Amino acid sequence: QALRSAVNYTIFNGSLDKECTRHVSLIAELHHAIEHDELRLYCQPKIQFDTGKLCGAEALVRWQHPERGLVEPDLFIKLAEQAGMITSLTHWILEAAFRHIYTLEQAGRPSPLAVNLSARDLLDPRLAERIRGLFLTWGIDPAHLQFELTESALMDDPGGALATLNQLKALGVQLAVDDFGTGYSSLSYLQRLPADTIKIDQSFVGAMIADQESDTIVRSTIDLGHNLGLHVVAEGVENRDIWNRLATLGCDIAQGYFVSRPIPVEQFDSSWHATLAA
Ligand code: C2E
Ligand code: CA
Ligand code: CA
Ligand code: CA
Repeated sequence: QALRSAVNYTIFNGSLDKECTRHVSLIAELHHAIEHDELRLYCQPKIQFDTGKLCGAEALVRWQHPERGLVEPDLFIKLAEQAGMITSLTHWILEAAFRHIYTLEQAGRPSPLAVNLSARDLLDPRLAERIRGLFLTWGIDPAHLQFELTESALMDDPGGALATLNQLKALGVQLAVDDFGTGYSSLSYLQRLPADTIKIDQSFVGAMIADQESDTIVRSTIDLGHNLGLHVVAEGVENRDIWNRLATLGCDIAQGYFVSRPIPVEQFDSSWHATLAA
């Protein structure tokens, strides 16, 4: 028994060490990536159900790693948060987003772009000030910038997050509650948020055709959003059945692989106009 636990102990610690070393090297690499422009901005279009027209896009970051290839954000956003790097990561994304919005405005084809903020971002007292500075630099229309915040990010420090959101809202940007239905925020807290939009989590949307309860949750969320005067976006629209069902339920906006996967920001503009014209 003693031997067995000693062996377990060794194995456990061995793997923990390895995990730790891997994290430490990833953190160093991510630091390098932010400094040396290995990050890439991808965009996923949002489409209006009733017109079928493009009504904006979500900015999604990727990491073009020299050896690992294209790394998905699920693998490094958390790490960046834990390592205290999310502020510089968000700053990189904001710069890229402002540049993209500026380019579209200059081309006479403006389209709102949504940027994801993490819990840490919302607790940064200088965030709103930094964004105000970017507006002064780029001179873009604040209505062309949206922020997406998850319910759980808001719940880490509801008072602090609310203060930041009110500052952002005062700049004239749009706010969306992301992954709606997966957090624990109360409806009364949501009511106090200066949000314009809710995004129904893709877990419900993806399951709604096969699962009656998911369908009910989606339907109720659309009604709730509309009754609160909010736009309702469905995420994870993967096929025509889901698209049709959501259209029947009166959902406003679709985002998902059925419409398009996220694409590099440089390709976003042209490919989208081509697709919609077809
Ligand atoms: P999210 O904000 O919920 O973004 C939606 C995710 O769903 C994206 O994954 C998107 O590619 C994926 N998706 C879109 N349509 C479909 C679909 O039809 N089916 C399925 N199965 N998935 C779909 P992605 O790009 O891997 O991003 C994952 C998460 O990483 C995001 O979830 C967001 O929380 C975070 N993230 C991404 N970019 C950023 C960023 O710039 N800043 C911050 N703070 N977080 C980011
Ligand atoms: Ca999002
Ligand atoms: Ca989401
Ligand atoms: Ca998510």
